[in-house]
Amino acid sequence: MSFDRRRFLQGLAGAATAGLLPGCTKQPFEAAEPAFHYEPGQPIPWMNWAGNQHCYPAHRIAPTGETELVERLKRAKGCVRAVGASHSFTALVPTDDTLIATDLMAGLVGYDDQSIQAELWAGTRLHDTGRLLEAIGQALPNMPDVDRFALGGALANSAHATGVRFGSMSSQLLGLTLATPSGELLQCSDTENPDIFQAARTSLGALGIVTRVRLQNVESFRLTEVNQIEYTEDVLDDLPRRLEAHRHFEFLPLPNSDLSVTVSTDLARPDDREQGADDPDALIKLRRLYESISWLPGANLVYDWLLKLNMAEGASTVRTGRSYTVLAHPRLVRFREMEYILPQEVGPACLREILQTIRDRGIPACFPLEYRAVASDDIWLSMFQGRPSVAIAVHQFGDLDHRAYFEQIEPIFWKYQGRPHWGKLHTLDSNRLKNLYSAHWQDFQDVRESLDPGNKMLNPYLRHLFGVV
Ligand SMILES: Cc1cc2nc3c(=O)[nH]c(=O)nc-3n(C[C@H](O)[C@H](O)[C@H](O)COP(=O)(O)OP(=O)(O)OC[C@H]3O[C@@H](n4cnc5c(N)ncnc54)[C@H](O)[C@@H]3O)c2cc1C
Repeated sequence: MSFDRRRFLQGLAGAATAGLLPGCTKQPFEAAEPAFHYEPGQPIPWMNWAGNQHCYPAHRIAPTGETELVERLKRAKGCVRAVGASHSFTALVPTDDTLIATDLMAGLVGYDDQSIQAELWAGTRLHDTGRLLEAIGQALPNMPDVDRFALGGALANSAHATGVRFGSMSSQLLGLTLATPSGELLQCSDTENPDIFQAARTSLGALGIVTRVRLQNVESFRLTEVNQIEYTEDVLDDLPRRLEAHRHFEFLPLPNSDLSVTVSTDLARPDDREQGADDPDALIKLRRLYESISWLPGANLVYDWLLKLNMAEGASTVRTGRSYTVLAHPRLVRFREMEYILPQEVGPACLREILQTIRDRGIPACFPLEYRAVASDDIWLSMFQGRPSVAIAVHQFGDLDHRAYFEQIEPIFWKYQGRPHWGKLHTLDSNRLKNLYSAHWQDFQDVRESLDPGNKMLNPYLRHLFGVV
């Protein structure tokens, strides 16, 4: 069964602003992290996109090329960290010593038409990557749904999108140039420094700074994305077929409701036409509706009923265009996210348990979850290593305290052998992580220690993750 998404969202807006609002309340919240401050004359603070991580780097460097980068790396004292687009929710980036931005090392280095490969500077943002590759007839085969990341940051975290036939971004990597903490420039690939390459394909920025990356691309292509509102159980019943049938398929279950937004994306046909438009305020409207009735007894039942009231048969929004414009979605609402990667076969059971737990415990949540599928790979620290996977994410609005919600959901992920996304919130330490990466955890640590015996690239968070005192 499908619903008209525009009507649905218009309905939400109407419900939220009309007679259903007598008890409209904003949920009380306590800031989850202390706000940072700036004092003139002191180091300028850095903070991440979500606003939950910050630091006061004594030195901020943006090298314009490899020679300068290597010199600065060699001379840097204390902890050195690289920053891409600051989109990680976890404390991978913060350092109060030296922060190296790669923004000025961006653009196309070279390409090969025959093999459809291209080399780019690691500071290139994904949206620029799409545009630069389009100009040479190439495209990334798949791309995360946010195109703000830098290539270096996306690869360090094994950033992923959705599609059972596509691995994470790290799996598209053929080779890279690594500036080591001691100031060497190493070429790494399957044939040159192969162990370092294996570790550097998903490195958390712990091995040095990647300056260039060589990617296996595909010929540029166009996509059409169809969004619908459907019953979550209908989607789960039909999930194996949809994952196989579509080039990309994902869905966003609405907590405290039986509904999901589905997103099916396939190669565009010549007669595909845009239909409707994404509503940039959809999340705000959903929240307004949820909060406006939260005072009612049985609020969740009323909420679910109101959502369903706005459903109708028929197609929903359709977007069509160049691959990198269709795969990307603007994120206008700030949020916090926890995402775990699980073996594909346990995904539906895990999702059902999360949704039921939210209902049973009356967890006040309305931010949609996200369910995506990713192919297996052989990368030492990739969350997808050794198993076809699904990624399930829970989110909370950035001005609400996510902690009580995430604390109740995280143990469910553990039950299903989940590995936390490196860039998203979780509470695991080295003891738990090394069991989840038992095949190559030590291989990675060996390479890391050989490149960085002084632990220059480790901030307190990475020490915690790797068990380095
Ligand atoms: C709105 C939003 C949407 C998101 N969507 C997705 C998604 O669809 N899929 C997904 O997988 N993740 C997603 N994430 C999580 C995360 O942001 C990404 O995984 C991505 O890796 C971040 O890239 P970045 O350029 O911002 O890296 P940063 O957060 O700046 O850095 C990430 C890590 O990379 C290291 N690093 C950066 N540049 C280099 C370099 N040149 N050499 C070596 N190390 C480097 C840093 O030191 C750090 O350890 C999302 C986050 C947000 C806020």
